[in-house]
Amino acid sequence: MKQLGFGTMRLPQVHEQVDLRETEKLFDRFLEAGFTYFDTAYGYHDYKAELFVREALVKRHPRESFLLADKMPVWLAKEPSDLERLFQEQLEKTGAGYFDYYLLHSLRDKNIAAADAVDAWSFIRQKKEEGLVKHIGFSFHDTAETLDKLLTLHPEMEFVQLQINYADWESERVQSRLCYETARRHGKAVIIMEPVRGGSLAQLQSGLANPFTAYAPNASLASWALRFCASLEGVLMVLSGMSDLAQVEDNIKTFSPLQPLNAEERAVIEAVREALAKVPSIPCTRCNYCTETCPAEIPIPDILRALNDGRIYGDAYAAKQYASACRDKAQASACLGCEVCLSRCPQHIQITEHLHEAVAKFERGED
Ligand code: SF4
Ligand code: SF4
Repeated sequence: MKQLGFGTMRLPQVHEQVDLRETEKLFDRFLEAGFTYFDTAYGYHDYKAELFVREALVKRHPRESFLLADKMPVWLAKEPSDLERLFQEQLEKTGAGYFDYYLLHSLRDKNIAAADAVDAWSFIRQKKEEGLVKHIGFSFHDTAETLDKLLTLHPEMEFVQLQINYADWESERVQSRLCYETARRHGKAVIIMEPVRGGSLAQLQSGLANPFTAYAPNASLASWALRFCASLEGVLMVLSGMSDLAQVEDNIKTFSPLQPLNAEERAVIEAVREALAKVPSIPCTRCNYCTETCPAEIPIPDILRALNDGRIYGDAYAAKQYASACRDKAQASACLGCEVCLSRCPQHIQITEHLHEAVAKFERGED
């Protein structure tokens, strides 16, 4: 099985809707090049991704010609009976008949408690016994310590889907390396999500990517990120959320065939990682002390993260992060200037100054 999977969380759009015709073209090209794995979820694209998968993939290609992964949204299951209802709905929406890979979705703190409360673990094991699911696992967004506990409690899980990319390999927050090593210590196959860090590693600010372009001028930045992931031992699949034909073609090229990183190339990636770590950033630890008392309920740490991202990945990427941080929440411009947050911040961050910067950059579009 080729190691590149098609993630369906960023399907091509037209007028803010998924472009079905374009999606069909991307899926067809992907299959034509010999790739077979597609990953979807109940909630992607405003709960419609499974329908687009049915229309663009399931209805148009023999079922045995592709592998389909889907995920149980455990946070929506309030009663054990909800699991069966959601699962049947997924079978109906995709029209797939069965799922090759089935995951408990996005396990982290509250979602782990939600999965435990309705024993979603036994549910997916039962679906495997019934033949409606071929392989079971979970996608994970918490610490390596928590992953270790889950895999000890649930040795029947066959694989884990992890956030891994070279920039976050040593990150304390994402813990890419620690989570990967934990999964391998338990003998689990690993599926990698966000290998290009939501596309950000494909658009490093000028200067940061110099080691890549000096070593291989014609290789895309995305190809370095994908090869880093696919070169790790025990990686079953690397998922890429492709949105246009250029991305599909570039990714196909990277995996046709995959060239694992050699020692020189590993050193090049290490040089870029070190350069990324040295970019001055606002030292927010996301302790959330500021948000506990902010009368305007501004998502301060998320806004600071968007500003930090802008310094590495550019303003266009940071603007998307800002929009996502403030979706359904107050924007930086809602700040009342009360300065309560300043006294709460153990890092002595000049929060209000950074909020002004965010307003200028992301709300007014100033440089
Ligand atoms: S100064 Fe602004 S961000 Fe800080 S607590 Fe007051 S309203 Fe919230
Ligand atoms: S209190 Fe300071 S360090 Fe903590 S989340 Fe807020 S800005 Fe970040």
